[in-house]
Amino acid sequence: MNGFSSWLRNLGAKISYALRRFMMGRYGTDKLNMVILGAGLIASLISVFIHFMPVNLALTTLSYGLMGWAIFLTLSRNTYKRSQENRKYLMLVQRLKDREHRYFDCPRCRQQVRVPRGKGKFAISCPKCKEKFIKKT
Ligand SMILES: [Zn+2]
Repeated sequence: MNGFSSWLRNLGAKISYALRRFMMGRYGTDKLNMVILGAGLIASLISVFIHFMPVNLALTTLSYGLMGWAIFLTLSRNTYKRSQENRKYLMLVQRLKDREHRYFDCPRCRQQVRVPRGKGKFAISCPKCKEKFIKKT
């Protein structure tokens, strides 16, 4: 049995080495692709309980689509673009969680501006380009 266990250990080391080599230069996982993967798994779980064919088919397609997308993002070599996407996603989550502020994009330079919520009509001046614009907060 000793020969077998050392063979197994050797195999494990080979696989982990191959995996590390395969992932070299690739993006890997982050919050965004974990959420996409999770959504895909949930869609696939729900589809198990729905026997109405068109809905079942749609959910199955959706779940494969989402999981495929998550895998594509994980294996992507364009790490800069992927981290930008993740940053945008994290900013969006922050926006949605923040009940005390509203977020606007400056009409001139697209800079994101955060203002306190519930102040009525409000003249906002962009911190970057000093452009003034009026928004309801
Ligand atoms: Zn601006």
